[in-house]
Amino acid sequence: MDTKGADTTGSEGARVTVRPMRAGGENGYDIVVNSQWATAGDYIEALNQAVLELPLDRGRDRGLRSCRGCDLCCRERLPITSVDVRILMDATGERDLYRFLGRYAQVVVNGRTVDITMARDAEGCAFLDPRMRQCREYDSRPLACQTFICCPLTRRAESLRDILINTGEDELVRWWLSEADGERRPVIHEGSLAGLSGMDVPATPYSGREGYHQVLLKEVCPAELWNELRAERPGERDRRKAGSRRRGR
Ligand code: SF4
Ligand code: SF4
Repeated sequence: MDTKGADTTGSEGARVTVRPMRAGGENGYDIVVNSQWATAGDYIEALNQAVLELPLDRGRDRGLRSCRGCDLCCRERLPITSVDVRILMDATGERDLYRFLGRYAQVVVNGRTVDITMARDAEGCAFLDPRMRQCREYDSRPLACQTFICCPLTRRAESLRDILINTGEDELVRWWLSEADGERRPVIHEGSLAGLSGMDVPATPYSGREGYHQVLLKEVCPAELWNELRAERPGERDRRKAGSRRRGR
């Protein structure tokens, strides 16, 4: 991995910067968090800017420099967060959580595990226009869609993405459970409520947040990851493992 002398995306004083790096002969990226006030929204904006400005090598479709014209990811499992759902409910005009999930999501309950993802059929995600191979809600697309780039990335960059998605998924399950009352049962596509009685999902750093600019990275990241992201250069574990991380989402 080589990050020396790299240009970065993000204006001077940006709270998150994306740095190009080379691993295994390919162009990928690293993430540095410059401010204790950096938010998930800053991270998403920095990555979207990087897609426009950096020469990232697309490993899943080597002819492409961007996602335009490719819908491979839109045909796979797509986890969603509480904030994704709030944004998409605004975009679609759907005001009721269970009606939104019933129409656009897939809720699978297995014992005490709840998995809420975007609904998809043989043609892909519920928001994919299969003829145009484009997202119908592109400006409101979920965190997982905005932050997956099929190129090499450092371990700390991958860990940040994972923790943001996982924490937001937990908050969505909390919301999903909290909407149920004596008369209303949570929408479920597969599985049953049987194993969930008395389940209490603790509050998360996403609780009460309606947009990604309200989600502080410092509150979501464990201390070790936070310290790694604040460092000027990737840590020792990244130097040992660079180049091995390019995967489906
Ligand atoms: S990130 Fe996904 S949609 Fe974008 S080019 Fe790669 S495989 Fe295609
Ligand atoms: S929400 Fe849009 S970008 Fe994300 S998987 Fe669905 S169609 Fe693709």
